[in-house]
Amino acid sequence: MAEILKGAPVASALTERLTSQAAELKVVPTLAIVRVGDNPGDISYETGATKRCEKIGIEVRKFNPDPSSVLSVIKEINEDTNIHGCLVLRPLPDKNIEREACELLAPEKDVDCMTSKSLAGVFIGEGSFAPCTAQACIELLDFYGIELEGRNVAVVGRSLVIGKPVSMLLQRRNATVTMCHSKTKNLSEICRASDIIIAAIGKANFIGSEFVAPGQVVIDVGINMGSDGKLCGDVNFNEAEPIVKAITPVPAGVGAVTTAVLAKHVIEAAMLQ
Ligand code: NAP
Repeated sequence: MAEILKGAPVASALTERLTSQAAELKVVPTLAIVRVGDNPGDISYETGATKRCEKIGIEVRKFNPDPSSVLSVIKEINEDTNIHGCLVLRPLPDKNIEREACELLAPEKDVDCMTSKSLAGVFIGEGSFAPCTAQACIELLDFYGIELEGRNVAVVGRSLVIGKPVSMLLQRRNATVTMCHSKTKNLSEICRASDIIIAAIGKANFIGSEFVAPGQVVIDVGINMGSDGKLCGDVNFNEAEPIVKAITPVPAGVGAVTTAVLAKHVIEAAMLQ
């Protein structure tokens, strides 16, 4: 039986620490959330993030502009000294506006790493907030005392929101990372030979028993709708769990830590301003 690496204890520990930090601040830490449209996934994330932030003592200001006003709303947020962090729920309906929005946001308020300056900071290794989900993987591994230095990690997925930044964060911690993608050859062998697998693919139950080996730690970032209509990860939990040493569940794994990391970034942004 594998150890189940649940996200809730990680999020609770972070919440407790952040609540005392928020109370010591001289300003009210404030997060702006920009949501365009009424996508149910965006609304659900906004609700979760708001609950987490308010519990900690972070004020949340919500903006729901139509696509043509997104850029002016971001300008307004940049100029408002009472707002310390801004989360723009993506993807936006218009790719061109999304690109402009990503460059317009003030990097010091970029708590989910959407600007290229923030991404550069993650790659250089200093001075910016990593994407919340990528950072949530690291928080989870640290909370459960999983050593990273010298370990071989297979990261499956190379997106700018998860695969690439989490690979950089792991390298910063002296792990040896193999970043895999859809054209990787012998993926199952690379995964089986690693100490830790981070799956960020977006394909339900893709990582099955042939990808895993005894003693491994498996972090499943995927959130997919399974053929049974239930949420599931990129890892086939029922196949992997009896084999590996530790594994995150979906739901209630990495996803549960993401909003706590968002709150952490807002507090840090408020401390810096
Ligand atoms: P994405 O942008 O679609 O990227 C998927 C990556 O997986 C790509 O790099 C792609 O390779 C790779 N891939 C696709 N099929 C593959 C295959 N057969 N073998 C190996 N690699 C393959 O997805 P994302 O935004 O990174 O999200 C990944 C997953 O995380 C999704 O399920 C998403 O819902 C979930 N997610 C979770 C959270 C959370 O809080 N837990 C937050 C955000 C996203 P190529 O580059 O070659 O195309």
